[in-house]
Amino acid sequence: AAAQKAATPVRRCVMAQDDCLFCKIVKGEVPAEIVREGERTLAFRDINPQAPTHVLVIPREHVRDAASAAAADAGLVDEIVREARAVAESEGVAETGYRLVFNTGSGAGQTVFHLHAHLLGGRGLNWPPG
Ligand code: C5P
Repeated sequence: AAAQKAATPVRRCVMAQDDCLFCKIVKGEVPAEIVREGERTLAFRDINPQAPTHVLVIPREHVRDAASAAAADAGLVDEIVREARAVAESEGVAETGYRLVFNTGSGAGQTVFHLHAHLLGGRGLNWPPG
């Protein structure tokens, strides 16, 4: 049992913001269907899926949006894209193609101000997006 426990990645939230929904998911205080846990990231299914595969990849630490992450820690953005690729593979959408979306700012549709990449796949996707 001890070995089992040690193998389970610890859910931690660096710089958690008390009122942040995704920080609460990282801490396990709000339930989510987690599909992948990385050292610095977490991936879980969107509760309101817009495609057969709709997974959010987020950093464990609280970062407001993609612009802040790119300015402060470009490696974190790389990590999110790498984790999204791994999720696309495990979801079986890597071959057919998938879309990564970072809504950045409320004018672009961002509603949760904790960085997240939407990974969308499993159906044809139109361009331009709405
Ligand atoms: O890019 P935006 O900020 O709008 O995306 C937030 C996403 O978080 C939405 O797609 C919403 O469905 C999802 N969400 C979730 N679980 C929650 C609350 C919101 O997956 N508990």
